Amino acid sequence: MGRLSSLASFSWRPSAAADLGADQAHVRLSGLERQKRSIVLPALCFMLLIGVLLIGVEAWSRAHAYTNRIEEGEAATANAVRATAEHAAASIDLAAAILSEFVERVEIDGAAAPALPRLHRHLMTRVAQTPALQGLFIYDETGRSVVTSLTSVDKARNDGDRLYFKYHQSHADRDVHVGAPILGRSSGLWVLPVSRRLQHADGSFAGVALATVRISHFQKYYEGFDLGRNGAMFIAIDDGTLVTRRPFVEGAIGTSIVQGPVFTLLRNGPPAGSAMRASKLDGVERLYAYRKLERYPLVVAAALAREDIFAPWWQDTRHECAALLAMLATLAVAGWRLLRQVIIRDGMALEMQRLQTRLRGTVAELDRLVNTDALTGLKNRRCLGERMDVEFARAARENTSLALVMIDIDFFKRYNDLYGHPGGDGCLRLVSDVIAQVSQRPGDISARFGGEEFAVLLPNTDGAGALAVAKKLCEAVAALRVPHAASERGIVTISAGAFALVPDGVNSVADLLDAADRGLYAAKSAGRGQACAGVPGPAVRPVARVRMVS
Ligand code: GH3
Ligand code: MG
Ligand code: MG
Repeated sequence: MGRLSSLASFSWRPSAAADLGADQAHVRLSGLERQKRSIVLPALCFMLLIGVLLIGVEAWSRAHAYTNRIEEGEAATANAVRATAEHAAASIDLAAAILSEFVERVEIDGAAAPALPRLHRHLMTRVAQTPALQGLFIYDETGRSVVTSLTSVDKARNDGDRLYFKYHQSHADRDVHVGAPILGRSSGLWVLPVSRRLQHADGSFAGVALATVRISHFQKYYEGFDLGRNGAMFIAIDDGTLVTRRPFVEGAIGTSIVQGPVFTLLRNGPPAGSAMRASKLDGVERLYAYRKLERYPLVVAAALAREDIFAPWWQDTRHECAALLAMLATLAVAGWRLLRQVIIRDGMALEMQRLQTRLRGTVAELDRLVNTDALTGLKNRRCLGERMDVEFARAARENTSLALVMIDIDFFKRYNDLYGHPGGDGCLRLVSDVIAQVSQRPGDISARFGGEEFAVLLPNTDGAGALAVAKKLCEAVAALRVPHAASERGIVTISAGAFALVPDGVNSVADLLDAADRGLYAAKSAGRGQACAGVPGPAVRPVARVRMVS
């Protein structure tokens, strides 16, 4: 009975462990799969959002800087034009103050010969003290110069043809008159004539007092402003006659700019303002600030070229766009790599899942092969050993009876000898089919024990039930009426031993096997082709607590 005890101690269960591990891994993987699927799209959206935000912030910042540049340009040109207007007014004021001094003197003291040398010296001193002035002139009613700041008086000179002279000849007002720029006859320089009417005590025209302001006086002042490379500045008479401009173009002095942007704006709008316009003179687009002087018929303007205003803005924009592009490229590369990793991991997880499924199939197949007898398809002896341990433990827990039927084909050696091994194998399959059909309760386990021996494990079955099953098996095999010429009965028969016990803490699986096996031997001894109740072995018998259920 050594074969039986070795079977009883069989307890290795690799298939069950592998099955449990595979199940847990599968659950974990499907959870991860769900999480990963939900990460790809949000990650993509997140990166797109970051990109859009970066572009949006940059666009907003550039637009803000653009507006700032315009505002700064407007402030710079407005300040320049205010200073220019004040300078122009102060220059005319100075000339007017000097004129009024001499007008009073000439009108009261007269310009007769005795007073002339002193007046001449006085005029020379005044001009020497006032760099803005080019000269001071007193004309009589015919236009002949009576006295000037020049070192000598050209007796033949007559300026009665000058516009300022004609103006005072025909206008009785005593206000300061600012005329269009003229090319000085004595100096050959461009000057701005500032004049006043001289009159006799009766109010009749007595001549003109003239102060000529150097155009270069304005020119120098304008050079002091920083208006960028293409900035412009000018002063003009309010009829559009240009006095001077920066950049200085000598040929432009005295020409009309009445069709230019500033005078066009002045014609249609307020006396001061600013606007972006293209210059008529050089075609450059500029931001103009302009102002008409309140007390004198003069217009001043300062302008910054659009190109100069926005040059720093363009430079900053180029740098910032390059930095933004670098950031976006880095974000795209990093994002793409991250997504690629996620996608690769998704693929790996899917592949792992597929492998897991295949592995589960393989494990199941291996499990089946490991537990199945190849010839008959019944459970094998290894599986029977495992199940006997499990069912024995369950019966102990539930205090129920566990039965075993041991079966052996009668005279099978002879059958083999007579019909050959293939014939013997066929007979084994026929008998095993009968055994599988008869023990059909769920939980019943039919197994090939080895050679031409079989066993049927019957959980929750008592001795009588087991013996009944054993008898049914014997009858069913006999009913097949498989010819066996070497048998005494002429057909294939089986002998069976049935035994049942309730585990009591003392008995064991080996006792069950031993007792059923003894029953089988009893059946053999009694003439074969029958079933006998099992007999507890001599080692077990003295144990009183072994409870027989039969
Ligand atoms: P008994 O009635 O006393 O059981 O006599 P028996 O001849 O059946 O008993 P024995 O144990 O002497 O012979 C068993 C024979 O079963 C031996 C062998 O020829 C045969 N056998 C064992 N395994 C296989 C098998 O897998 N296929 C085939 N064809 N025969 C087998
Ligand atoms: Mg045998
Ligand atoms: Mg036999």
